[in-house]
Amino acid sequence: MRLHRCANVGCRELIPLKHNYCQKHYDERLGNYINQRAESKAKASLTLRGQRNQAEHNREYDQTRRKELHNGFYQDKRWSKVSEYVKARDGYVDAIEGKAWDKGDLIADHIIPRRLLSGMEQYNTDNLWLLTKS
Ligand SMILES: [Zn+2]
Repeated sequence: MRLHRCANVGCRELIPLKHNYCQKHYDERLGNYINQRAESKAKASLTLRGQRNQAEHNREYDQTRRKELHNGFYQDKRWSKVSEYVKARDGYVDAIEGKAWDKGDLIADHIIPRRLLSGMEQYNTDNLWLLTKS
C-alpha cells in the first residue's frame, strides 16, 4: 500500500493515500468542526441582519469544511478511473474555454454539485465535465 504523511503540520504519521489526515488529526478536525458549528448556532444574533450574516457565514464555512472532510472521495480508485474516462472522452478539452490541456491540468467536475447526489450518482459521467485546475 502506498503511504504519505498526515497533512497536519509537524505530524509524521504515515497513512494511506486516500486519507489526508491520520486518525488522531482527522478526529481532532472533525471535533473542532462540530464544536464550531454548535458555537456559531448558539451565538445567533437577535437582529435580522445579524441572522442573515450568520447564515451566510455558516454556509461558506460549511462549504469549505465539507470539501476538506470529503477529500477522500477524490482520492479513491473508482473516482480516478471515472475522471480518467471523462478526460479521454472530452479529448482533454475544458468545458469553459474549449482549449486542450495536459491531463494534469484538468479536473473532472460535477455539473450538479456532488453534495446533492447520492452514492453511485456521484460517478455518473453524464454529470461530469472538465475544468482546469486554475
Ligand atoms: Zn496526524
